Amino acid sequence: MSNTFDVIVIGLGGMGSATAYQLARRGKRVLGLEQYTPAHNLGSSHGKSRIIRQAYFEHPAYVPLLLRAYELWQQIEQETGKNLLTLSGGLMLGLPDSQTVAGSLLSAKEHGLEHEMLDAREIKRRFPPLQPSNDTIALYEKKAGFVHPENSVSAHLQRATELGATLHFEEPALSWEASLSGDRVRVTTAQGCYEAEKLAIAPGAWASDIFNFDLPLTVERQVMYWFDPVGGIEPFLSDRFPIYIWEAEDEVKFYGFPAQERQDGVKVAFFYKGVACTAETIDRTVQVEEIQQMRQYLAQRIPTLNSDCLQASTCLYTNTPDFHFVIAPHPQYEQVAIASPCSGHGYKFASVVGEIMADLVIDGKTRHPLDLFAPTRFLG
Ligand SMILES: Cc1cc2nc3c(=O)[nH]c(=O)nc-3n(C[C@H](O)[C@H](O)[C@H](O)COP(=O)(O)OP(=O)(O)OC[C@H]3O[C@@H](n4cnc5c(N)ncnc54)[C@H](O)[C@@H]3O)c2cc1C
Repeated sequence: MSNTFDVIVIGLGGMGSATAYQLARRGKRVLGLEQYTPAHNLGSSHGKSRIIRQAYFEHPAYVPLLLRAYELWQQIEQETGKNLLTLSGGLMLGLPDSQTVAGSLLSAKEHGLEHEMLDAREIKRRFPPLQPSNDTIALYEKKAGFVHPENSVSAHLQRATELGATLHFEEPALSWEASLSGDRVRVTTAQGCYEAEKLAIAPGAWASDIFNFDLPLTVERQVMYWFDPVGGIEPFLSDRFPIYIWEAEDEVKFYGFPAQERQDGVKVAFFYKGVACTAETIDRTVQVEEIQQMRQYLAQRIPTLNSDCLQASTCLYTNTPDFHFVIAPHPQYEQVAIASPCSGHGYKFASVVGEIMADLVIDGKTRHPLDLFAPTRFLG
């Protein structure tokens, strides 16, 4: 089987599906290996919505990547005719000196991003379900919204296949080796051995099993909740209700989305605050007490969502100590590129991460700034 493929991609979730697409688009012969089914719900890229925004409180250095991510989301939408990105507008709420508000404002100013600052009264007037305290303010960004994760993973996989990629599902990569000469890799699965010139690894919460070097990654269990609003869903529809991240007075962050399918209700979740686990040990059952805790949190802030929970499901964050991503050539093998863009905020970047991974494996470099994401920051 040697020499059939130029590049093997391990993991076809959010990042791997975009990587396979970008490589196939550039004419590479791609083999993608995924341990589960297409767009499955056992990793990090499911739950129907992921926030996308430009005024980035985590660090202004993300903004150029975001601008490119938007272009590439639109490109895959055009190529597949699927609606993947909904720009509902977005609010970053908190006290004026909170990271969420102050950091978003810093990014917006540094990159000249269009935004408005709203006080509590204006927030309530424009978005009646939200009931912030009097000293809460918000940065409003028209270009924020959400991406549909399952549909966009499927879109990337579909286009990759149309462009000639070979994708194998339910076939975990068990191990890989790379030659020190920098020009070969071999990946072993239960079905056989595959050889290629290059390897791209985007394994999400399974990174510690397959990156083949130590990184201080921790996996965190998250819960997504869908509530049936008291008084009806109309105030939450996406033509009048934004995505939001809300940093409360106790510094706990939670976030939510406009309603998508009416019968599904309105989605909210805590940002971080989950328990440590692994992809194998995660408890996928959501307890009644957890739903109760979310409802109590919403009671004062979005009172109509202190209501019946229609659905709740779990998801995995893979966090680095500083919550910035890892995207880089493998520290030992130049023909291997690795991606762990999570820490709870990676999905919106999947389109551009695909481009970066393709750059790294094909050219060994990329025009995108990756300094913030170097694994060497953890290697002493
Ligand atoms: C509840 C929740 C809410 C989030 N909200 C947001 C948000 O609003 N905005 C945002 O930008 N981000 C958000 N994120 C983060 C974002 O979803 C993740 O950063 C992103 O999904 C990570 O994609 P990934 O490709 O690294 O992981 P995954 O999509 O999990 O993909 C990894 C894939 O690799 C496969 N794999 C692993 N090992 C192997 C192997 N050995 N062989 C074959 N296949 C393998 C796995 O099965 C999996 O399919 C959220 C995450 C969660 C859980």
